[in-house]
Amino acid sequence: MNHEHPEFLWYNGKIVPWDNVTIHATVIPSLTSSVFEGIRAYWNPDEGRLYGFRFREHYERFADSIKLMRMNVPYSVDEFVDGSVETLRRNGHDSDAYLRPAAYSGHPHQGGQWMPDPDQVQDVFIHTKSWPSILTREDGIHCGFSSWTRIPDHILPPRIKCHANYANSRLASIETTINGYEGALILNMQGKVAEGPGACVMMVRRGKVITPPVTAGILESITRDTLIEISRDVLGLEVEERDIDRTELYVADEAFFCGTGMEVIPIASIDRYPLGDGQIGTLTLKIRSLYHDLVRGIDKRYAHWRIAI
Ligand code: PMP
Repeated sequence: MNHEHPEFLWYNGKIVPWDNVTIHATVIPSLTSSVFEGIRAYWNPDEGRLYGFRFREHYERFADSIKLMRMNVPYSVDEFVDGSVETLRRNGHDSDAYLRPAAYSGHPHQGGQWMPDPDQVQDVFIHTKSWPSILTREDGIHCGFSSWTRIPDHILPPRIKCHANYANSRLASIETTINGYEGALILNMQGKVAEGPGACVMMVRRGKVITPPVTAGILESITRDTLIEISRDVLGLEVEERDIDRTELYVADEAFFCGTGMEVIPIASIDRYPLGDGQIGTLTLKIRSLYHDLVRGIDKRYAHWRIAI
């Protein structure tokens, strides 16, 4: 396979060569209303095969984002799932991979007043690339709360995975990086913990796994959903979806970020308050290693979450 870029993309229903998918530069200002997804596929070395993880749920969320933005995209979830499998196969991925689907207005901007047209058919591509998992990283990250507030549902809904929302994420992320942290946490308009710029957050207190509800100004994360289910049903843990105060996180025994790209990343400290003994927590490790085995198809349970490529 080509390691600079994949040979093919899925573009408007067809597999096409990389060089054929272009836009005119004048399209760029309207790209803030574009929606996208981030999906992973994991290589199982023993079987010599790739497993896509929860493709259907990602494309259902993609369809929700498209609907909420009132975009006209004439493809079904099935077509996206099949297109993803075919693109990964055609590109010959033989290691962990990441898929980036996007729906956007690819029409050149003609000047004058910009008014979105709900009937305009949007373009869609699915881009695949190699991206190794970091699920075995040995240390936790040091995080800080950003001074920026998470955008609320009644202004710019975090439930929609649209590029505009990531301006809020960028401000939070860059601020905390400049302040010497490796990760950001963001409070919502109610002053409760929302999420990170690109991942949800979970904490462990007194043996319970606790995470903010889907109404806290978060993306409805598929990893969050996966971890809630496996923590309850496989590990037998109590899981609570409820508001979390900032200070509760400071005194949590363990905490971690979760998301498709970030996977499960342990948090070592928040605003320089060390969590637990500063090492990766016992339950975090258990949850992470179960997640690792499930996504890679080493653990054969939850077969309906994986699609063999
Ligand atoms: N919140 C935000 C803001 C994100 O960008 C992501 C990554 N998609 C997540 C949460 C985690 O979502 P998922 O588990 O579906 O990747």
